Amino acid sequence: MVAFRKDAPKPYTPDSLISLDTNERSLDGLFVEGDVAKAVKAEFPDVAIIQQRHHDRRKRLQKKKAHDRRTSRNLCRREGTREHRRIDHRMHQVANSVLKFAEERKSAVILEDLKGIRPRKSKELNRRLSMWPRRRLHQIIEYKAQWRGIPVVKVDPRNSSRTCPICGRIQDSRMGAEFKCECGWHLDRHINASINLLQTAILKGMAGGLRFNPGAFQHDVMMILYEPAMAARSEPNGTSGIGGVT
Ligand SMILES: [Zn+2]
Repeated sequence: MVAFRKDAPKPYTPDSLISLDTNERSLDGLFVEGDVAKAVKAEFPDVAIIQQRHHDRRKRLQKKKAHDRRTSRNLCRREGTREHRRIDHRMHQVANSVLKFAEERKSAVILEDLKGIRPRKSKELNRRLSMWPRRRLHQIIEYKAQWRGIPVVKVDPRNSSRTCPICGRIQDSRMGAEFKCECGWHLDRHINASINLLQTAILKGMAGGLRFNPGAFQHDVMMILYEPAMAARSEPNGTSGIGGVT
């Protein structure tokens, strides 16, 4: 037997860019190729549901087995392993779809650096979801991209959800599903954040010399990179309109 050690290939020079804002239930972002910029989305709504369900189950186990801490601890650990395995499986599917899209279009993938980011404070502490799935998704994307020669760029996400990409104003709060600026610009808050990530990457010279003009953004198109229904089918597919029947 001869063991081969394969080295990761050198990342290609990108022809296009995919910028993704990472959220609890989806990656939301932008695909930029030449003068065209379209919204993209990869949805994983079930991950938050799995997290919540396992959280509730662990709580119940702890209560029921309060008199037997060792059994309780073991059962909880088993619950945790099962939860992680299921989320991990979904995140691999999401990563595969995003990277297939990137590879076919020779895109660089731009992500926020999640280091140091904590979930937002919530009054309902019980419902606070951990950052683990999102960090894990990034880990999988980065690892797989490296072996396929797909460039991945990580940028500081500071103020990305509060900044207007047109006039540069930074807002006080980031409330609401839509980002609205005094200058007239308005866009889905997550997609807006991905534009800011993209512009940070371009400003830092990390986007392979590619540029982006916010005026090129096509407000009426949404490309679905992944949704759970795709797990049944094998291949991710094309484009669907916003508000279309899916
Ligand atoms: Zn503005």
